[in-house]
Amino acid sequence: MRLVLLGPPGAGKGTQANVLCKEFKVLHISTGDLLREAVRNKAAVGLEAKAYMDKGELVPDEIVTKMITEKLKDTDVSSGFILDGFPRTKRQAEILDKALETLRLPLDMVVYFETKEDTILRRLTGRRVCRKCGYNFHVTNIPPKKEGVCDYCGGELYQRDDDKEVTIRKRIDVYNNQTKELIDYYTEKKLLHKASGDLEVNALFSELKKGFKESGMI
Ligand code: AMP
Repeated sequence: MRLVLLGPPGAGKGTQANVLCKEFKVLHISTGDLLREAVRNKAAVGLEAKAYMDKGELVPDEIVTKMITEKLKDTDVSSGFILDGFPRTKRQAEILDKALETLRLPLDMVVYFETKEDTILRRLTGRRVCRKCGYNFHVTNIPPKKEGVCDYCGGELYQRDDDKEVTIRKRIDVYNNQTKELIDYYTEKKLLHKASGDLEVNALFSELKKGFKESGMI
């Protein structure tokens, strides 16, 4: 299974990637997670990226594509992967195509999470993330068993700096102006599969599994 999850912030890409990776034993590759890790480790690339992330803007293509091509080269991705939050520009999509061509691991599908703006705002303002394992929770939709503590690793849950309303609105604008064109890009390549990002986790998971079966992926 080789997938790209495409959609606005708050569409549920990260949550769905967590569930899909557990079920299908494939690798979850999130550029957002990789960048936040670089920020935590005070890596040079993290310090450069942080300024963009805090403003809700995209980190420059060169930084992100270098990060992802290295990850694809250095990790065994032969049993499958889910790319979450990458690509986000046409340039990134073209570089991804080249890297996957070299590896002879073409994409099976690009899942586009069509999502309403009020769903996005509700999700992102209530999102809490585990500092240790990156698992996503939500104060009302996916509450942890114990407040502030990750169900899976016991790590501390926190609210991302860019999940404040003003930054969320900026991220939605950035998505509309820079990422949305990838819908056409992947439609032309006959890879796009639409799913409803407004559905709750399990309902969307079932819908996706149905789509995978119909396309012969599972
Ligand atoms: P995410 O966790 O996917 O919402 O990403 C959080 C932030 O990381 C984004 O708002 C961007 O600043 C940055 N980021 C993540 N992925 C990319 C990407 N593919 N291209 C550029 N910036 C990215």
